Amino acid sequence: MSVLDLLGDEYETVSFAHDPASGLRCIIAIYSTALGPALGGTRFWPFESEDAALRDVLRLSKAMAYKAAAADLDLGGGKAVVIGDARTQKNDDLLRAYGRAVDRLGGAYITTADVGTTSADMDVIAQSTRYVTGTSAASGDPSKVTAFGVWHGLKAVAEQLWGEPSLAGRHVAVQGIGKVGGGVVRHLAEEGAQLTIADIDAAAAQALAGEVGADVVPADEILSVPCDILSPCALGAVVNDGTLAGFKCRAIAGAANNQLERPDHGAALTDAGILYAPDYVINAGGLINVEDELHGYDSARAHAKTAAIADRLRNVFERARAQGTTTAAAADAIAEERIRAARRR
Ligand code: NAD
Repeated sequence: MSVLDLLGDEYETVSFAHDPASGLRCIIAIYSTALGPALGGTRFWPFESEDAALRDVLRLSKAMAYKAAAADLDLGGGKAVVIGDARTQKNDDLLRAYGRAVDRLGGAYITTADVGTTSADMDVIAQSTRYVTGTSAASGDPSKVTAFGVWHGLKAVAEQLWGEPSLAGRHVAVQGIGKVGGGVVRHLAEEGAQLTIADIDAAAAQALAGEVGADVVPADEILSVPCDILSPCALGAVVNDGTLAGFKCRAIAGAANNQLERPDHGAALTDAGILYAPDYVINAGGLINVEDELHGYDSARAHAKTAAIADRLRNVFERARAQGTTTAAAADAIAEERIRAARRR
C-alpha cells in the first residue's frame, strides 16, 4: 500500500526527516490542526521497518486528536516517532537535529515526552525549537497529573455505580503500580479505598503495599480479582477474548492506553454489565498538563482542568445511555463532533 493510500484524506501532513550526521530518522504526523496546534509526544522506538513506524505514528497522531478533542482542549492531534533504540542511539546531536525538524513545521506540531523520551530529552530538544513542552523547567513529568485525573475519573465511575463519588470502602484492583498506577494507589489509599495491587516487579508491589496497606496478588491474577473496579495501569489490550470471561468487577477504569484489544470488546463489556471508562478520556491528565504550558504553566490550573475529567466521563456515560451505544463509541462521537465542527469553520 502506498503512503498516500495509508493517509486517506484524513491526515493533514506527514513529514519525514533525516540527519545523516547524527543518524536521526524520524516521522512527524499531524492528523489535524483544526482545533489548534498538534501536540503529541515523541516516541523513540526500534521499529522493525519504516512502514511499521509510519503505521504507528499515523495511528498515534489520530488518537491524540481524539484525546485532545474529548478533553475539550484547543489542540489538534500529532505524534512523532524517532526510529532507533533509545538506549544506544539517543544522543544530544540527534535530539537537536530532531528539534530542528520540529521547528521547521513552524508550530503546527508541538512535541513532548513519550515512550523512550524524557523531560531531560525535551530540555535538549528545546535548544533547537521552542515548540516543545514537558521540559524539566516547565511542567516536567506528567505522570502525577495523569494519576490525579484517573483518581477523579474513578470518582465519576463510583457515582455512576453507587450514586455518590466517594471511593471509601470500595475495592479497587490496580494492575501496574509504576509512575501512574502508584500515584492512583496513593490517592485511593488516602481516600480509604480497599486495595489489591499487582506488578511484574513483585518487590515494588510489596513495598507499596506495605506503605499504603494494600493486598498483593501475582501479576497473572490481578485481572480476575473479585473487586468493585479494575484499574489497568500497565499495558494495553487488557480487554481481549482471553480475559473477558474472567473479569469479576463492576467497572474497568484505568490509565493504560488502548485497553480494548478490538472495538467490539467495548460492546462485550456492556453485555457483561461492566462499565468501561474510555481510556483516552480518563488518562488525559498528562496532556492537559502539558497543554497548560501554552498559557504559561500554572500547576493549580492544570490540576483543576484535570479534575474536570470526572465531568467529561459523566457526559460520556450519559450519552452512551441516551443513545444506547457503548461508552467507547460515545467518547469517539464526542471527539469527532468537535473535530468535524472545527474543520468546517
Ligand atoms: P510505568 O512504566 O511507570 O509503569 C507501568 C508499570 O506496569 C510498571 O511498574 C511495570 O512493571 C508494570 N507492568 C507491566 N506489565 C505488567 C503486567 N503484565 N502486570 C502487572 N504489572 C505490569 O508506566 P506509566 O507511565 O505508569 O504508564 C502506565 C500506563 O498508562 C501505560 O499504558 C501508559 O501508556 C499509560 N499512560 C501514561 C501516562 C503518563 O502520564 N505517564 C499518560 C497517559 C497514559
